Amino acid sequence: MLHKNRLFTPGPTPLLPAAQTAMASFTAHHRTADFRALFQRVLADMKEFIGTKNDVLVLACSGTGVMEASVSNLTSPGDKVLVLTAGKFGERWTGLAKAFGCKVEVLSVPYGETFSLEEIRARVTSEVRAVFVQATESSTGARHDVEGIAKIVRAQGGASGSDTLLVVDAITGLGTTHLDVDGWGVDVIIGGSQKALMMPPGLAYCAVSERAWKWMDVTTSPRYYFDLRKERKSAAKGESAYTPATSLFAALGAALEFVRGMGKGDLAKGREELVNNAELCAEMTRAGAKALGLKLYASSPAAALTAICAPDGTDSSKIVKEFREAFDAVVANGQGEMKGQLFRIAHIGYYDYLDTIGILGALEHVLARVTDRSVAYGAAVRAAQEVYARAQSGKRQLVGA
Ligand SMILES: *Cc1c(COP(=O)(O)O)cnc(C)c1O
Repeated sequence: MLHKNRLFTPGPTPLLPAAQTAMASFTAHHRTADFRALFQRVLADMKEFIGTKNDVLVLACSGTGVMEASVSNLTSPGDKVLVLTAGKFGERWTGLAKAFGCKVEVLSVPYGETFSLEEIRARVTSEVRAVFVQATESSTGARHDVEGIAKIVRAQGGASGSDTLLVVDAITGLGTTHLDVDGWGVDVIIGGSQKALMMPPGLAYCAVSERAWKWMDVTTSPRYYFDLRKERKSAAKGESAYTPATSLFAALGAALEFVRGMGKGDLAKGREELVNNAELCAEMTRAGAKALGLKLYASSPAAALTAICAPDGTDSSKIVKEFREAFDAVVANGQGEMKGQLFRIAHIGYYDYLDTIGILGALEHVLARVTDRSVAYGAAVRAAQEVYARAQSGKRQLVGA
């Protein structure tokens, strides 16, 4: 059969056709009234997409750039920070904070798991300048309890006038997870264009609280391109400090219009719909995997992606390769030490019912070919169909809704 190349990776994700068209036809110079209008509209819409009243900045870099900016703008060398890590992206926080000379305390749990709030409570003291965590750990498919963590961080300190800040890498969390940024008191939340926004890589964004803006004036870590205060000043005038990625802004405008359409004209509602979509794709996928006798890698699975353990005695690299060769479907292997143990199927952004049923049908063939187990064709698809039918009949309780 002919093959269509399809990405099921947790970034980059499939592209929205309207975003591709918008990019391809965009030519405006960035210091013009036309571009300023687009820039201002996009920044205002991004607040709705994130669900915040805080100032939002969009920068030309990958997600890690804004992770770095949150460290360099909010800490000084020697500051004590707490990193909560449960995977490769948590480890990135540790590396970044060390690179900027922070005294890094690490609370880590084994890959696939999430944190106990009690252990976090014991570590968040008034000396901790900032807590860094992921909303969803894309390397393991785990979901972390951002609301619970935020409660702990917000409950501490205050007396010294320098509250501990909470910085959340929601690069795969935004658009896949219900997050109440302002209600929970998240100080910096970070996202990237190549995830739920259905665009190519190249833009990363963040929403920053007043508490965090104030703190930036006293921190002393070096920063120049990633000086968020400079970027904020320019944004207030409808511009970015340096040359923005103009065509990606055009794509972002189109992506936000698509999400608004999902909410029938209401962008905040569209964001909720996008999250519910990911939740349903994830629930169908989990049911399908379990019906084939496969185990999930994460104890508290995210809707962003499903990490599935390779069956005993099978290297997941073989599964990933077979998906590619038989169906031109790109699923992700495990990262680092997890390579060979698991494979990851994403639900971030532009995925629908047919994508989800299709990848589960393909999974049945892939398993039959690379393992010696007998596969009951239709088992995964059937389980997913039942989840979908229940959701349609309205009986289904939305996870996290
Ligand atoms: C994709 C991703 C990142 C960002 O990676 P970049 O390659 O720098 O865009 C960071 N954190 C998580 C959880 C991610 O999934």
